[in-house]
Amino acid sequence: GDLTSRVEVKGNGDIAILAQDFNRMTEQLTRNEEVRRNMVADIAHELRTPLAVILGKLESIQEGVLPSTPETILPIQDETLRLIRLVRDLQQLSLAEAGKLPMALQAVNLRQIVEKITEQFAIEFEERGLKVDVVGDAPEVIGDPDRLTQVFVNIIGNALLHTPPGGSLQVLLAETGKPVEEGEIPDESTHRLLDVFRRKGEKTQKTEAGNSGEDKNTTSSVRSDGWVRVTVVDSGEGIPEEELEHIFDRFYRVDKSRERENGGTGLGLAIAKEFIQAHGGVIQVESKKGEGSCFRISLPIK
Ligand code: ADP
Repeated sequence: GDLTSRVEVKGNGDIAILAQDFNRMTEQLTRNEEVRRNMVADIAHELRTPLAVILGKLESIQEGVLPSTPETILPIQDETLRLIRLVRDLQQLSLAEAGKLPMALQAVNLRQIVEKITEQFAIEFEERGLKVDVVGDAPEVIGDPDRLTQVFVNIIGNALLHTPPGGSLQVLLAETGKPVEEGEIPDESTHRLLDVFRRKGEKTQKTEAGNSGEDKNTTSSVRSDGWVRVTVVDSGEGIPEEELEHIFDRFYRVDKSRERENGGTGLGLAIAKEFIQAHGGVIQVESKKGEGSCFRISLPIK
């Protein structure tokens, strides 16, 4: 049916209020429908490329244009794996968006999670000549360790991919009095953080702890109403300012063609955001083109 029709009723009576509610509902439905349509179009677009590659290679092999060798089969396998990742990511994203993500909650030590991930990436870090530091500690949070691991694998993996050889990466853990809301931290704080970070690692934690402002006792005691903040800072290529607001959108990539080669589905940060929100947390990004990026994740302790 036509979702754009509106009801106009003059006055302040019950019927007029009902009409306003109806119009609001209509607008919401129209927006939802548009989101759904875009989503279907995006998915179709993302599926088309790997499927075209797979079909093209298979046809060439079948027609004898290409030999059937490990070298010709490898790209077919790669693209198939990409499709599998894509379908898995889409499923997780839709579950999380619907609030139906199964979560196995338990006490989670984020420092342990982060250290495990940096160990898993150790070879890649070394190959790229990247220095990695994990600084600070924080109380345990209640969460799903697998989901949280997935979030930090994505954030740390992205930092790795987008930091040129010789660069550095730092993961800071701290307890804070409150999560940082959007726009609450002035831009300079990150740039200060990045500056300090570039000069030398150790001081960064202090700068970061200073961000929580008046709350002087945050690091000295375990607070029931506290938050844990994990900050991932890289000295990499950064993200252009005009792209920052889209960075958590599904399928959004700053460099479309290169990102595809990296094997990313473009869903990593969208999933990270949904997973963190499912934990009652907040995820934020600040970045400066050519200087580096800073992802902050705040999770409630209880
Ligand atoms: P992808 O699967 O492409 O990595 P993500 O959702 O994880 O998708 O990230 C979205 C985009 O954000 C990436 O394609 C990249 O352009 C940009 N990005 C993410 N993290 C960083 C970072 N640390 N430095 C620079 N760019 C980044």
